[in-house]
Amino acid sequence: MARSIDPEVLAPLGGSDTLHALIDTMPDALIVIDTQSSILFFSRGAERMFGYGEEEVIGENVSMLMPSPDRERHGGYVSHYLATGERRVIGVGRVTTARARDGGTFPVDIALGEFVAEGKTMFAGFIRDLTDSRETEQQLHALQEELAHVSRISTMGTLATSIAHELNQPLTAITNYANAASALLEDPSEGNLESLHMALEETSKEAIRAGQVVQRLRDFISTGESVHELARLSRIVSEATALALVNGDGKGVDIEVKLGHPDDEVLVDPIQIQQVLVNLIRNALEAMQASTVKRLQITSSSSHGQRNVRVSVVDSGPGLDQHVAERLFHPFVTTKETGMGLGLSICHTIVTAHGGRIWAEPSDLGGTQFNLTLPLALEEDSDA
Ligand code: ADP
Repeated sequence: MARSIDPEVLAPLGGSDTLHALIDTMPDALIVIDTQSSILFFSRGAERMFGYGEEEVIGENVSMLMPSPDRERHGGYVSHYLATGERRVIGVGRVTTARARDGGTFPVDIALGEFVAEGKTMFAGFIRDLTDSRETEQQLHALQEELAHVSRISTMGTLATSIAHELNQPLTAITNYANAASALLEDPSEGNLESLHMALEETSKEAIRAGQVVQRLRDFISTGESVHELARLSRIVSEATALALVNGDGKGVDIEVKLGHPDDEVLVDPIQIQQVLVNLIRNALEAMQASTVKRLQITSSSSHGQRNVRVSVVDSGPGLDQHVAERLFHPFVTTKETGMGLGLSICHTIVTAHGGRIWAEPSDLGGTQFNLTLPLALEEDSDA
């Protein structure tokens, strides 16, 4: 329940001027809005963070400080809360992306509180810019470590060698049997036909063995420690976007998030999928470093009755290097001097282990578009 502030509580602080002065010393931003989302108060910290002067924003809708799709959806969130009392952000806080006056977007952590003063309900947002936040960087590192663990980079080489070895045996046997069979056919006597029959049976057995090796590889990938759970797609996307922007890599990039159905829920390991998106977004930002037009779109589309949702990361960069394009998702394929060329192969492993698909194509923005599909949570999933 919102608490009413008794003016007497504030009295020892010497009234509102002192309070203002005090708030203005806060490095973080404080923004107060009313139930119509009109900005009532905009601290000095907010002016520094967003690049607007107080006089430009007072009375304006706070959604002007948000990029799409929050900008369009903000009003809906507030009315939903006022009508139902259901808290999605208030008192919880979230990592998301904010929009500055110059159109630039940056990652922020927002804590939102509700209070009543002079009979009016208001919301106070405390906003921390995460661009240079060590904490976020640590979070990002933790994610990356998790990823290294999940994808078992260290075992990948060993795995590849042993798979190659194991597959080689049945494949060599198949070749030998096939050669023998064709030699036997040259003299189709009864005895030879019997041997031919045996050779073909052995061929089929060896092919089944090769299939089992591949199946074991699939099991190995999908039985990692990943835990699939219900997760809201919009949250995964907004956190991944914010994380990918840490260190200011998104400077000057016009970022747009357009989710077809923002309430879509997916059945995934959220950390792994977030990592896939962080990888794709960072690749896109890196690709656009020298581009004059820097646009990044993150979109999703799902239609009713579909089992999958498609998420795309679209950039206006130079497009894929021709040599890289053919083996894009193979490990150690890179055009970057310091690149490891592992990012996309790991993304591929993760998405495949989720039963999805990942592919790249030229984008409408003139650069590259990476698409991936993820399993949508169906109603029976949430009953479980
Ligand atoms: P790394 O980033 O270490 O090179 P990745 O596997 O993530 O490894 O990417 C492999 C290569 O794919 C990159 O070196 C780059 O050439 C290309 N690439 C990936 N994403 C993009 C993109 N959005 N635009 C252009 N090229 C890209």
